Formats: sequence, structure tokens, C-alpha cells
Amino acid sequence: MKTIKIGISRCLQGQRVRYDGAGKYSRICNEELAERFELVSVCPEVDAGLTVPRPPVELVRLPAEIRMLGRDDSSLDVTDTITSFIETSLPGLQELAGFVLTTRSPSCGLNSVPVKSTKGRLLKEKSSGLFAQALVDCYPCLPVIEEQALRRDGALAAFELSVIIYSLFKRSCTAEFAAVLPFAHEVLVVNNLMQQMAIVKESLAKLNQTRLSSLLKTLRESIDE
Ligand code: SF4
Repeated sequence: MKTIKIGISRCLQGQRVRYDGAGKYSRICNEELAERFELVSVCPEVDAGLTVPRPPVELVRLPAEIRMLGRDDSSLDVTDTITSFIETSLPGLQELAGFVLTTRSPSCGLNSVPVKSTKGRLLKEKSSGLFAQALVDCYPCLPVIEEQALRRDGALAAFELSVIIYSLFKRSCTAEFAAVLPFAHEVLVVNNLMQQMAIVKESLAKLNQTRLSSLLKTLRESIDE
């Protein structure tokens, strides 16, 4: 299990990489996921070369695209800096079997990031951060979740199951879960990873926390054997 790698927004490890020089320590990531998986941390803003501390940025909708501009000074535009880091770093993330992202961050948020108009008005739409959006575009089957969502009942177990199943698919080791998961047959008759992971997600969503925890325990034991 420890050989399975998952990505994590670096501030969730408590590292002081946020724009204001703070971290955003996550107990779930550092005390639960870290015990079972190898965590690979990414901070798109710092890894792209931005400083700590740095001016806060936000997503702004322009006619043709969303850009990442300074919150207090809209002449600051870090979109190209972040985008060029993303383009060079994404291929190196293919060994990951999951990713935990920071909520509402203009780089790392997943469908939770406020978007403003060029006049500073908050729009109704919510977007994903530039890194998070590129990650799901590049790896559409990868289990990806915001840290805040992991706190919901059953979400941690469902995420861990998805990560393990995805990792087994990538290594063509489907026998490990064929005997364990009640929906394995539905998954295995499909010959397309995208559809397979969609069935996994849908099937896990129907199970309650007790059932998810029990499945996770059984799957872990079958892998560790
Ligand atoms: S949310 Fe993402 S970009 Fe912002 S500090 Fe955390 S890891 Fe870095």
C-alpha cells in the first residue's frame, strides 16, 4: 500500500507556502492518508517560482478565458507563469493514483473557486484553479478530491478505495479486487478505464460508511497478502 503514491497540495502538509506565509495543515492527509500512501506534494505557485509571501491572486473572467490576476493590483498577471509550470510538471505526475487539493485556491481548488468580473464583481460561477483544472484534463480518470470533501461521512474510505482500484487498473492487477468488490463484474466487462472508473465512482456512492470501511479493510488485506 505504501508504494501507492498520491499527490497533495503542499500547504495541506502544513508547509508555509501560502501567499501569506502560512500553511493549511490537514489532519486527515498527514495522519491518515500519509500512513497508508506515499504523499507527493506540489505547490503550483511556489514551484512555478512565486515567492512566499506573495501578493494574493484570484480568478478573473475575461471575454475569452479566465486569468489569474492580483487581488489588490489587477495589473499583476501570473497566469502564464503558472501555466508554463503546469505544462512542464503534469507529465511527471502520471505515477500518482490520486490527488488531494486545497479548497477555493485559485491554483488548487476543484470547482470551488470564486470567479470575478474585470470590474471586481463576484460572478455566480465557480471554477477550478488553473492547476486543478489542468490535472483533471490531463488525467480524467484520476481520483481527485478537495481536502474539505474528505471530511464528509464515508468520503475518506471511498477516496481510498478509488485510489487503490485506480492503481490496480494501471498495473493491470484486476484479480486483486475481482474477488472483493461486489460491483467488480460490472467494472470488468467494460474495456475502457474512463468508463470503469465512472462505474467505480457511481457504485461507491451508493454504499454507506460502514460498508465502505469494511470493503476498504478487505481490499487492503487482499493486496497486502
Ligand atoms: S493552495 Fe496550492 S498553490 Fe496555494 S499554497 Fe497550497 S499548494 Fe500552493
